Amino acid sequence: MDKVGAFVKRPPLTVTQEATLLDVVKIMAGHNVGLVAVVDEAGRPLGVVSERDVIRALASGVQLSAKAIEVGTRENLLTAKAEDDIYSTIKKMRERGTRHILVVDDAGKLVGVVSIRDLVEDRALKSIGDRVWWPPPEE
Ligand code: AMP
Repeated sequence: MDKVGAFVKRPPLTVTQEATLLDVVKIMAGHNVGLVAVVDEAGRPLGVVSERDVIRALASGVQLSAKAIEVGTRENLLTAKAEDDIYSTIKKMRERGTRHILVVDDAGKLVGVVSIRDLVEDRALKSIGDRVWWPPPEE
């Protein structure tokens, strides 16, 4: 079974706590990503701002000059370790209804972001194929 780390494609795209919503949408547009993490000086995640957070903020009248961290999610961030297996990670994302998961090291530093997009690749589907049963087996 593949590990989550195998699906980290690039270094994480992050901002600091000082970043504005405009900074975040520029990163999203410029790098084709749907989530930007807010990190502290040690690179540990403090929050995330997703496309959905941006849409919700704009719909409620928040200005692009607002602090990004204030419109994002700060609590119960969904994280995985690079050595976690891919199937349990997919299940975590499904249960929480998130499209991204933060991959952190033992010190809690962000090392990458895995998106649902990465998990529909043949490599991921093949890796979980032998773990998925439908209909689910009787408990
Ligand atoms: P998305 O459009 O958000 O599904 O992301 C597109 C690709 O960029 C996916 O393959 C993700 O692994 C990657 N990605 C998404 N968000 C980030 C991020 N904050 N830092 C680095 N890579 C990311």
